[in-house]
Amino acid sequence: MRIGTGYDSHRFDAERELVLGGVLIPGHAGLSGHSDGDAVAHALIDALLGAAAAGNVGSHFPPTDAKWKGADSIELLRQAAAILSNRDFEVVNVDITVVCETPKIGPHVEAMRERLAGAMSLTIAQVSIKGKTNERMGWIGRGEGLAVHAVALIESGSTRSPL
Ligand code: MG
Repeated sequence: MRIGTGYDSHRFDAERELVLGGVLIPGHAGLSGHSDGDAVAHALIDALLGAAAAGNVGSHFPPTDAKWKGADSIELLRQAAAILSNRDFEVVNVDITVVCETPKIGPHVEAMRERLAGAMSLTIAQVSIKGKTNERMGWIGRGEGLAVHAVALIESGSTRSPL
């Protein structure tokens, strides 16, 4: 078993659509960034790659590369999951916390779990997401952007016990 953590933060940008966990959330400012700004996907990718000691989102999908401009971060997550399976790792479970004052995360949790699980070829039961506010403190409290924490547990095929 190996464990990895991931963190990401993005500024809100009123000119963009909000995509979080692969889900379009209408009626709220989006997130700035080179890709679609999906901080949930980015933090999760870093947790997965970190667990495998296989680099990070920036090393595999550099923002300096025009190829990733406006990229669908769910596609990047799919590629990160493939990097792990190529190294004979299986994901056991992932857990994600989104920290923001708005939007409310709760109503979108099930759709996000479905999108993220699909991209990693996992069951929904292996994917947890929850929202927290920052109690109106600091930059998150002022609504300047949001932050995401993620943790991933993975298992190596060579040590996996037979069912
Ligand atoms: Mg990011």
